[in-house]
Amino acid sequence: MKITRKAYAKINLGLDVTGRRADGYHMVRMVMQNVDLYDTLTFEKSAEKGLRLYTTSPSVPADEHNLIWKVCALLMEKYHIEDGVTITLEKRIPVAAGMAGGSTDGAAAFLGMNELFALGLSQHEMCEMAVKLGADIPYCIMGGTALAEGIGEILTPMSDMPECAIIIAKPAVGVSTKWVYTELDSREIASHPDIDGIRDAIARGDLQGVQKLLGNVLEPVTAARYTIITEIEQIMKAHGALNAMMSGSGPTVFGIYADKEAAQEGYQALEKSGLCPELYLSRPINPKQ
Ligand code: ATP
Repeated sequence: MKITRKAYAKINLGLDVTGRRADGYHMVRMVMQNVDLYDTLTFEKSAEKGLRLYTTSPSVPADEHNLIWKVCALLMEKYHIEDGVTITLEKRIPVAAGMAGGSTDGAAAFLGMNELFALGLSQHEMCEMAVKLGADIPYCIMGGTALAEGIGEILTPMSDMPECAIIIAKPAVGVSTKWVYTELDSREIASHPDIDGIRDAIARGDLQGVQKLLGNVLEPVTAARYTIITEIEQIMKAHGALNAMMSGSGPTVFGIYADKEAAQEGYQALEKSGLCPELYLSRPINPKQ
């Protein structure tokens, strides 16, 4: 039996940091949104014992440092899985980009292993194990549009984001999430995004309301070091975007467009600029449907 799963990337329509726990984790309030850009994972039992992971991308580890490996190793030990497993990862999501690429692969590993070995784990059980490996993995297991609070693991499902087109543009720099949060700790947060306002606008199906309220407290940190982020946003806004913002800790920038036609001009302008080697014309998606 071979199982294939799509692991979708996310963007943050809103990202606020509200404090820090005693153990150092940051308390967040985030509006999470899956976009139609995904890695593909396949899972297959094999006669040979142990775990084998193959990836198409030289920029992600194919060993115990990969979140897929960590998830599978945990499940194999906990549920005494004796069979071998072979996993392939076809990587498309930009790496170290603020799109939860590793977390969504980790989530797909929980879901794929649960199915392959008929473990019968509920979403809640998987999320409880997942948060110990990464705060964004529970959201990636749930998917769709959600409010994430706590350290990212307290999830409230939301209505689907109104239809639109989204351009995803990743410049040729990698950003360490740890570095961004450390920098953030050394400064004051000048303004907090209206997370509840974004949630209400989504519930009303009000795309204009959503685009006006986009906000990410990590953007001033990353954009101060990588000016290319603001340059990309300016190109998007000059070519049809309703608004544009950095996702997560960056450096990926996304632009929101009324529809695919409106996004074509922006896509061409960005392609011509040569600023973003990884460029996608995407849309919001709810994998649960
Ligand atoms: P987030 O949005 O959750 O901060 P990110 O998009 O910034 O995530 P990732 O793409 O998850 O960052 O990569 C961060 C690091 O994690 C990479 O440098 C990579 O070595 C490691 N990593 C481990 N497993 C994976 C995976 N399956 N895919 C991508 N990176 C992985």
